[in-house]
Amino acid sequence: MNGQSRRKGIEQSREQEMEVASGERPTDRQPDRWRDADDLRWAARHWAARMGVRTPAIHIRQMTTKWGSLSRVVAHASGGGQARSTTAVSPYAGRLTLNSELLALPRELGEFVIVHELVHLLAPNHGRVFKSFLHAYLPDWQAREARLRQIAGRT
Ligand SMILES: [Zn+2]
Repeated sequence: MNGQSRRKGIEQSREQEMEVASGERPTDRQPDRWRDADDLRWAARHWAARMGVRTPAIHIRQMTTKWGSLSRVVAHASGGGQARSTTAVSPYAGRLTLNSELLALPRELGEFVIVHELVHLLAPNHGRVFKSFLHAYLPDWQAREARLRQIAGRT
């Protein structure tokens, strides 16, 4: 007598949906291209660590006029006269937004945008201090900037 046990396969494979910019992927993978949005995000975190700045929250989305932007989250010290406790400190240094079009461009251009924006955590404007930081982290930043402009077809 064989008791037959019926087994039901109840394994459900959940497919993780990832936030990936929907674009055409090149069939042949090029080593100098970003694999996906996470790859770009990871690079931004990597650069933040390397530069010794706090990692900003990273967002990747379509931007019409810029390659990237950085908004610094500033704690409100004023505004009602009521002093708040300082416990609500953001874990992020700010918010870094990267244009998803960078995903289709060579890595070195995305890196340039990342470094440019992160340097703004050290120097808010594009003055002498800003440029010396860029020189330190990306000695060839001017060539990258020029190439990015060329590709974009805008100044
Ligand atoms: Zn800038």
